[in-house]
Amino acid sequence: PYDRYRDRTPASAELSERAKRVLPGGDTRSVTYHGPYPSFFTEASGATVTTADGETLLDFLNNYTQSVLGHAPEAPVEAACDRLQHGNDVAAPNEDIVELAERLVDRISSVEQVRFGNSGTEGTMNAIRGAMAWTERDRILKVEGGYHGTHDTVEVAVGDESAHEGIPDSVKKRVDAVPFNDTEALKNRFECAGEEYACFILEPIMGVGGMIPAEESYLETARDLTAAADSLLLFDEVMSFRLAPGGAQERYGVEPDLTALGKLIGGGLPIGAFGGREDVMSQFHPETGGLKHSGTFNGNPATMAAGAALLDQYDADRIEALNERGDRFRERLQGIGDVSDRPVRITGDGSLFQIHVTDEPVTDYESSTAGEPPLEDLFIRMRNDGILLAPRGMGNLSTAIEDEHTDTFLDAFEEAIDRIPEANS
Ligand code: PMP
Repeated sequence: PYDRYRDRTPASAELSERAKRVLPGGDTRSVTYHGPYPSFFTEASGATVTTADGETLLDFLNNYTQSVLGHAPEAPVEAACDRLQHGNDVAAPNEDIVELAERLVDRISSVEQVRFGNSGTEGTMNAIRGAMAWTERDRILKVEGGYHGTHDTVEVAVGDESAHEGIPDSVKKRVDAVPFNDTEALKNRFECAGEEYACFILEPIMGVGGMIPAEESYLETARDLTAAADSLLLFDEVMSFRLAPGGAQERYGVEPDLTALGKLIGGGLPIGAFGGREDVMSQFHPETGGLKHSGTFNGNPATMAAGAALLDQYDADRIEALNERGDRFRERLQGIGDVSDRPVRITGDGSLFQIHVTDEPVTDYESSTAGEPPLEDLFIRMRNDGILLAPRGMGNLSTAIEDEHTDTFLDAFEEAIDRIPEANS
C-alpha cells in the first residue's frame, strides 16, 4: 500500500522534502507524522479535506476529535472573523470570555469556575498545579498510557522508554501510574500512598490510549478513594467532553473536583481550559490566591467567540443524535470485523471509536497496543481509498459526516481488513 500512497501523493512528497529542511521531520506535531511522509492539505470543508495532491479525503479523524461540526462550520468561523476584524489582541478581557465561561459552567455541573489557556496541555498542567497547591502535595497518580498533553508530569507512563527522554528523573519519581479499569490495582495504590497524591488524573474514556471507556464502577471507585485520601479527582475531558453537554462525567455519572478541557470548546481555534470547584479555582484569584496563570493569548477573544458559537450549535439534541449514529457505526464496524480473517475489536463510546486488531478484550493500554503494527497498514490502505483515520486506528464522527460517508468507510474497511498483516508478525 505504501507504493500506491507514493503514487497518489507526489505534491505532498515534494512539500514534505521542502518542509524537512526547516522542520525536523517536516512537521511540528508528532502525532500527524506517518511514513513515508504525511499528506499536506490545502482546504477542508464539512466532512472532507482536500490535499495538495488534489485528492478529496473523507475525514474520520477530525483533528483528533476536535472538529465535532466538521470543517469550517459557519457560525464559529463567522464569530472568529468578526472578532478579528474588530481587534482581537488586546491585553484586557472582553465579553467573549464571559460568554464561553458561562456556557461551560452552565453545562458541566462540577465546574463552578474556569480559566483558559491555548492548549489541552496547558489545561492539564495548570489543573495539576492547582491540585498540588490545594493539597500541598507533589505526587501525582495517573493511568498507564493515559495521554494528557506534552508537559513533563503527564508524559510519564505514556509510550515506551524512548518517549521519556528529556523528562527529569525528579519528575518521574513524583508520578505513579496504574493500569486503566483495574479497580483492585487502584485500591492497592491508594492503600500504599493515597495520602501522598495531589490528584488522580484520568480520562473517563481513555482516548489516545485506545478509546476505552471506563468500566462501570471504576470511576466511582476513583471518586471514593480520592475523596477519602483528600486527594483531588481530575478528569481530563479534552477529548471526552464531546460525549454529552456536560461531558463524559455527565454521561458516566461521576463528578470530579477538577476538569481539564480543550479541543472542541475553541470552535476550531487553539484552546485549553481547566475548571472545577470554586475553592480550588480561587487559588488563581489575582488578589487573594497565590497561583499565577498568565499567557499572552489566554482567553483569546476570537477563540472564545468561536467556542461559544460552536457550543450553541453542538447542543444536547445534536450530541445525542451524533452519539446514536456513532453507536450504530461501531456495531456495523464490529460486524464486519467479526466475519473478517483478522481478530477485530472495536472500542469507543458515542461518536468516538477505535479499531483494534487483537483476540484479547481491550480494557487498558497494554491490551490496546497488542495489534499496533497492522493498524498502520490498515491506516494507509484506508487513506489510499480516500479515508482519513489516525495511524493507530482511532477515529470519530462529526455532525458533517452523512450516512453515505459511513457506508463508504465501511466498504473500504471491509476491503482493507483482510489484507493487513497479522498482529505482531
Ligand atoms: N488531553 C487529552 C485527553 C488529549 O487527547 C489531548 C490532545 N490529544 C491533550 C490533553 C492535549 O491537548 P493539546 O493537544 O491541545 O495540548
